[in-house]
Amino acid sequence: MNKTVLITGASRGIGAAIAYKFASEGYNLSICCSKSSDALYHIADDIKNIHHVGALTFVGDVGDETFVSSMISETISRFDQIDVLVNNAGIAHIGLLSDMSLDEWNRIISTNLTSIFLTCKYTVPSMVARKQGKIINISSVWGNVGASCEVAYSATKGGINSLTKALGKELAPSNIQVNAIACGVIDTKMNSCFSDDDKTTLADEIPAGRFGAASEVAELAYSIACGNEYLTSQIITLDGGWT
Ligand code: NAP
Repeated sequence: MNKTVLITGASRGIGAAIAYKFASEGYNLSICCSKSSDALYHIADDIKNIHHVGALTFVGDVGDETFVSSMISETISRFDQIDVLVNNAGIAHIGLLSDMSLDEWNRIISTNLTSIFLTCKYTVPSMVARKQGKIINISSVWGNVGASCEVAYSATKGGINSLTKALGKELAPSNIQVNAIACGVIDTKMNSCFSDDDKTTLADEIPAGRFGAASEVAELAYSIACGNEYLTSQIITLDGGWT
């Protein structure tokens, strides 16, 4: 029987790359996004044609409990189980803390952090029942070191890192591993706000001399998913030596 991965925020960028990687390894997919439904459906159709796996799509907000709980219950009823949960959906917010509204703060906390509470809350019981499962959270180096003008984003990613460490401990007796990938700069739409000159300057600051590729995050996520059961509660930094 094929394994199943649920990936949040898979209509483009890192989430889409993770979807293609797991499908190429024979996983059924459950993928979601909040707005880009056409792109999400296109990815699901493409993956089904190329890799002949099952693919469920959901359009809704990962910070919404009703949406998340029904996405997870529909996934389990279609594919029997969720072997791997990848919490990838996320948004950025650049600006001074004092210029940020409470609505903007609440939105980023909901999308980046509350979402992971919800997906874990509704997925973990079935993993515990089977005494098996992997949870991979896509975090950021800003969660390790903090970034000026990205205070809220850094707070959500720092929260993800602590959630990962704590939940990993809580679930280790049930043979469920929880790890995070703290990405440096990855070449996706999230960085489209930078000019070409900004991108060159930024790449020059990275010892590897370039941005990471979404496919490199996907390869690491897959290797964590099929890897060592003794590896848990870890924040694995993927940043070309930047931080
Ligand atoms: P991206 O290209 O902007 O993709 C973000 C994905 O999340 C999209 O599929 C988006 O779809 C979805 N999404 C956003 N809000 C959502 C919501 N409320 N509910 C459901 N889905 C939602 O970003 P990316 O660069 O691939 O980033 C993916 C993850 O990596 C994020 O958690 C990000 O913080 C992290 N990361 C990225 C970088 C980087 O340099 N790119 C660095 C460190 C960490 P819709 O817009 O249709 O909702």
